[in-house]
Amino acid sequence: MPETDWSRLIPKPRSKFLLVVCNECNNKQVVFDSAKIEVKCNVCGAPIAYPSGGKAIITGKIVEAYE
Ligand SMILES: [Zn+2]
Repeated sequence: MPETDWSRLIPKPRSKFLLVVCNECNNKQVVFDSAKIEVKCNVCGAPIAYPSGGKAIITGKIVEAYE
């Protein structure tokens, strides 16, 4: 039985830009999903994404993703 080439089956993680809505003021903002620094809302300053090693933790609501 031939060995399965998992690297072909599992898509490589690719970075995306996410359109995130701030929980506090509903401002829409584009956030890099692998952000290395805390991202704050441009309008009210509430944190909307935290770095977590790999992918950022998005605290707001993701409404769209751009590859
Ligand atoms: Zn805000």
